[in-house]
Amino acid sequence: MKNLWLEREAENYVRYYAKQNVNEDVALRVYSSRLLGGDPRLVLHGGGNTSVKTIAKDFTGTDIDVLCVKGSGWDLGDIEPAGLPAVRLQPLVQMEKLKSLSDEDMVNGQRINLLDLNSPNPSVETLLHAFLPHKFIDHTHSNAILAIVDQTNGCDLCYEVFGDFMGIVPYIMPGFALAKEAAKVYREKPSVNGLILLNHGIFTFAETAKDAYGSMIRMVTRAEKFLLKRKKKKFSLVKLPKAFAPLHEVAPILRGLSFYEGKRLILDFRTSTKIKAFVGGKHLGRYANQGTATPDHVIRTKHKPLIVPAPEQGKLDEFSNGAAIVMHQYISDYHSYFVRNNKRYKGKKEELDPIPRMILVPGMGVFGLGKSAKAAGIAADLLETNISIITEVEAMGTYSVIREGDIFDMEYWSLEQAKLSRVKEKSFTRTIVVITGAGSGIGAATARAFSDAGAEVCLLDKDEAAISSIASEIGGVGIKCDVTNPIEVENSFQKIVEIRGGIDILVSNAGAAWQGKIGEVSDEIMRKSFEINFWGHQNVAQNAVQIMKSQKIGGCLLFNTSKQAVNPGKEFGPYGLPKAATLSLMKQYAVDYGGDGIRSNAVNADRVRSGLLTDKMIKSRSKARRLSERDYMSGNLLNREVTANEVADAFISLAKAKSTTAAVITVDGGNIEASMR
Ligand SMILES: [Zn+2]
Repeated sequence: MKNLWLEREAENYVRYYAKQNVNEDVALRVYSSRLLGGDPRLVLHGGGNTSVKTIAKDFTGTDIDVLCVKGSGWDLGDIEPAGLPAVRLQPLVQMEKLKSLSDEDMVNGQRINLLDLNSPNPSVETLLHAFLPHKFIDHTHSNAILAIVDQTNGCDLCYEVFGDFMGIVPYIMPGFALAKEAAKVYREKPSVNGLILLNHGIFTFAETAKDAYGSMIRMVTRAEKFLLKRKKKKFSLVKLPKAFAPLHEVAPILRGLSFYEGKRLILDFRTSTKIKAFVGGKHLGRYANQGTATPDHVIRTKHKPLIVPAPEQGKLDEFSNGAAIVMHQYISDYHSYFVRNNKRYKGKKEELDPIPRMILVPGMGVFGLGKSAKAAGIAADLLETNISIITEVEAMGTYSVIREGDIFDMEYWSLEQAKLSRVKEKSFTRTIVVITGAGSGIGAATARAFSDAGAEVCLLDKDEAAISSIASEIGGVGIKCDVTNPIEVENSFQKIVEIRGGIDILVSNAGAAWQGKIGEVSDEIMRKSFEINFWGHQNVAQNAVQIMKSQKIGGCLLFNTSKQAVNPGKEFGPYGLPKAATLSLMKQYAVDYGGDGIRSNAVNADRVRSGLLTDKMIKSRSKARRLSERDYMSGNLLNREVTANEVADAFISLAKAKSTTAAVITVDGGNIEASMR
């Protein structure tokens, strides 16, 4: 591993932060923390932590000895001085004299000694940083270190690899007891460069940021070289089917099986030659079920993955049944694991949902699962890291981590759970929504509304530039798609399923307006309009329903049908007729798929400023009717202009209306001729 410290860059940090009244110690602490955090082989997603002992002024202007240590919720890769809250050092050092200290007292002791009460909670490993005397301390969960310590003979290997350079600390859960033990190991051999924490990670320390970081890189490189020399074995593989079912058919089945007590999850698929070798291994059941490579992964991935059968091509039903059996087994095993371990806590812990966050599919790859696309991505990243580490270990030895009880203590530790976002879930969190014609007008407003309500939004539109800009604005998936082209539609839906795992709600909105007197209009115009205003809806609805049926967890279809479907406007036949057919289409889906829990509803909007009713059209139409633009746009019972956001709200209401199907909501400011009866 390369040492990335650059003297010039370090000086830049010092100069830059001096302007913000940040001292040199903290500026350099930020610099080397970012160097560590920038390498996923060292730390991932909030893992690891760093500290510096320095001087800060309290509110009276008095100089105080403080420990600036990583705060909860910050990532080393992009940390700022605010992510290194200052805690009075002396009271922390005093805590070492205590025989025991509860977690609550430890957290309280750390918080009441903050110089700024608005700071985040100091890391759960703060006391370890405080009890060691060094100025700069770095801690990572390096892959190479874990590949050595997570072996049955990990401790012996550490002596072999690190000799007198490092102290070796047995596994203890982070907190007061570990901090005391680590300080004791250090004092027995004060010449060490750092400490190896069995089944957990590595600490290095020094008087300068450069030296502490340098030791980290040197020790990790030592571990890497050792692994390279020793590696020999490859996974012996099981016999797998010749051909596999495609990802877009497998993912919705697994997403459906992960549905639990009304809650959905998002899936993130990963594959590579390395991953395929791992999931195809003969002893997968042994090495994959030991637990995570470092304990704090467990809150995001749970300790065991779900291993499903290989999905053989043409035998999807068999796969589906096999996967359902192992999922039920997983749920019941998780429940027993909880009950067994909760006894030690006198039944006080509350069980988390028993659904796996990692699924391994022999022959294909792996899925990370989470309540959002982000959480699923984190689970998948951690899973990939675990695969790398276990692959290294199994090439030379046997993978082995902490006991089940220790894993449970970590998974159900309130301080670990506190690391997860406590933001309240929104109405559409865990929900995948596809919106067509999402590049502008009503579609774009609906995409924003669903995204604000917590949904994972996938946007389809012919206009690639428009959707990619909205997709990046709201963090959605944007795919160029012409809904009149059945092949493009099929490919787009497959892609969505490959990226997110399935579909819950379809807003079929894409449309275009044509005019003409019905007795004179050309067939070409009529057919063009039917292509988009009827077939466009049928193409996307058919694809959505297939995916929803394979998930077996219901779904929701929403059509934009327009008031023309019930109240034809003069010379608007080319637009109104296919819209009327689409209104019937909505009802037909409600009838044919109600039994599958799939609801189908529509919104009839009228006179909404959009791509179909442009400012130019408004100008000419109001002129033709001898009305001001304002009067034309608010020519309804309520005398108010209808906005795209109000139409979006109607889609949202229908998506929430669990007992409503085959219904139409009118959003037109009131038009008695177009009212439903
Ligand atoms: Zn750690």
